[in-house]
Amino acid sequence: MGRMTVGDIFSRLAARGADRESLWREADAVRRRTVGDTVHLRALLEFSNRCVQDCLYCGLRRSRKDLLRYAMQPAAVVRTAVAAARAGFATVILQSGEDPAYDQETLGDIIRRIKAAAPDVQVTLSVGERPFADYRAWRRAGAERYLLKHETADPVLYARLRPGHRLSGRLKRARWLSELGYAVGLGNMVGLPGQGPAALVADLELLAEFEPEMVASGPFLPHPATPLRDAPAGDPYLVLNFIALARLILPRAAIPATTALATALPGGRELALAAGADVVMVNVGPGALRSLYEIYPLRDDGSSLRPDRFAAGSGARSGARSGAQPGERSGERAGEPPEESLAALRARVAAWLAELGRTADGTPGRAAASGAGLAPQVGAEAGASPP
Ligand code: SF4
Repeated sequence: MGRMTVGDIFSRLAARGADRESLWREADAVRRRTVGDTVHLRALLEFSNRCVQDCLYCGLRRSRKDLLRYAMQPAAVVRTAVAAARAGFATVILQSGEDPAYDQETLGDIIRRIKAAAPDVQVTLSVGERPFADYRAWRRAGAERYLLKHETADPVLYARLRPGHRLSGRLKRARWLSELGYAVGLGNMVGLPGQGPAALVADLELLAEFEPEMVASGPFLPHPATPLRDAPAGDPYLVLNFIALARLILPRAAIPATTALATALPGGRELALAAGADVVMVNVGPGALRSLYEIYPLRDDGSSLRPDRFAAGSGARSGARSGAQPGERSGERAGEPPEESLAALRARVAAWLAELGRTADGTPGRAAASGAGLAPQVGAEAGASPP
């Protein structure tokens, strides 16, 4: 890990007061020198909250029965992603629980349709552990990036928190993704029950060895509907120190100011941007669905940054209770974010960043530039029947 010894890492992770400020300043200087003042806005679309896995820490785990499940229609996913691209977002992240209904063909078709309508937008996937053939098909369909957070580099803790899974299997998939030419994102949770400082050092050692293009770190936040409900939350300041160290170890990595950090600490996004982060996720999904993507409670999904003009309706239907699968009927447009709303949202985030002395990537967006209300369209595919 460069010039830092393991002892240095331990002490800098625990830094407080003036030492902490010094660490953040150092990381901020490296960030400015290597990746500059541009903040990359990622349009985040959480298209399904269904999941076949049962991770102990997660509010989407399959054992949870009190959560209304949803899955956006493929056509609605495409329309929303394309609307975000036309509103000026350079990257869209398609994120879900592990939902087998979005199989190789369905998700591949979604990616192809997005790239056909918005060739310049970068497509990032965050849909969990899948077979190699799925990853290969989606790469060929045009996806460029994949987020596969490793959660913790402690193999014993990992196996305890993710029943039936092993860290080695996760990292094997991360290597597949890298071999397929994806830009790969790893990431961890800080403050997991049973996670000591050595496990966080192991996270940093893993980052140094793997050299992912992206690193997402956030605090563990206990969800009352999970087995970890009584565990204390992770320390957001420890997350900030971790982010700063990740920047020192991987000077050119994309490092988000995570939603979990903003949830745990008012002003957490701003502090992360001052401690080495250079990415902000902006949730562009239909307003009625955002609260259902409840991986932890009281999530700050960035709603305070957005003009919420499309909160009513969903553009989707609840799925798990009805057993519905994606593609059973054509997507509904009620509640989908219109392009001009997303352009206004992007402009608002850009203005907030300007106040911090930073610049948003992407373009202002056609709707914002013209002031016209543009209806979201996906060309000939707008009225297509889902697969
Ligand atoms: S962490 Fe991911 S894989 Fe695990 S239950 Fe939650 S959504 Fe599913």
